[in-house]
Amino acid sequence: MKCRTCGKKASVNMRQHKLALCKEHYLEWLPAQVERFIQKYRMFAHDEKILVAVSGGKDSLSLWDILHYLGYQADGLYICLGIDSSTSLGASGGADYSAESQRLAEQFAAGHGLKLHIVNVQEQTGKTIPEWAEASLRGRGKPCSVCGLVKRHVMNRIARDLGYDVLATGHNLDDEAAVLFGNTLTWSGEYLLRQGPVLPATSGLARKVKPLFRLYEREMLAYALLRGIEYIYDECPFALGSTSIYYKELLNKLENDRPGAKLAFYLSFLEARKKGLFAEQEQVQQELHPCPNCGQPTSAPGLCSFCRMVKH
Ligand code: SF4
Ligand code: ZN
Repeated sequence: MKCRTCGKKASVNMRQHKLALCKEHYLEWLPAQVERFIQKYRMFAHDEKILVAVSGGKDSLSLWDILHYLGYQADGLYICLGIDSSTSLGASGGADYSAESQRLAEQFAAGHGLKLHIVNVQEQTGKTIPEWAEASLRGRGKPCSVCGLVKRHVMNRIARDLGYDVLATGHNLDDEAAVLFGNTLTWSGEYLLRQGPVLPATSGLARKVKPLFRLYEREMLAYALLRGIEYIYDECPFALGSTSIYYKELLNKLENDRPGAKLAFYLSFLEARKKGLFAEQEQVQQELHPCPNCGQPTSAPGLCSFCRMVKH
């Protein structure tokens, strides 16, 4: 397999694009794709301040790397969840997942001269994520819903307090297609309505964007490896056995037989929505009001779900 650009031996072959590239041209091609999607979906401009949510994994660090390379003003935000071997609620492996991912995020920031904000959930709220999950779920189920709630709250708060225009996350096509698949199996109109590469700013919340949403997981993996980015190899121990991993496997089987199927699934969804597939749901959008404690918009009367949880 030869590089389409220079004819040298290819390092990455992308069947879905019928494209193979050598290392040098792959490392040019991928950021150029991201730039194209930033423009096409009107994610942000060069004069806007971007906050990148960095987990220490390959996608978020690569996103930060790419935005920096493309000349955007992007700072990082690392949220320390306090997930380690002692508090993992019976999850196996993942010893000191949080400490190691924080170290890699800090190392990346220092190596590139970039600014990284660090928020420690335990210091801010008195408990780690597994402890919050234990308190609110009494040991039943995974901490992922609590974790998602806390991460959203922290990201929104930091973006607002520090004046960022836009919040960027490293979700790739595999992540997005798996969520879409799950929402489609149950036809969850409300969730489908909110899924997309750009979530416009709303009352007091920064715009949210996913600049990697059209890139396959393996394309991002190849990027991180070829760029020599040191990232946390282990997933969060709570991700093991999750339905989203199962959906990813199913979609990979489909992709294997029909290269491009995953991308087509996601893009045709965006197209259908643009044509008004969810027009009815869009009419009945819930009204939001600011939480009396933290000021973030919430649909329930009174405190938002984060403040309700933390106040107990
Ligand atoms: Fe949080 Fe669950 Fe993701 Fe782990 S797998 S980081 S607990 S949402
Ligand atoms: Zn609140």
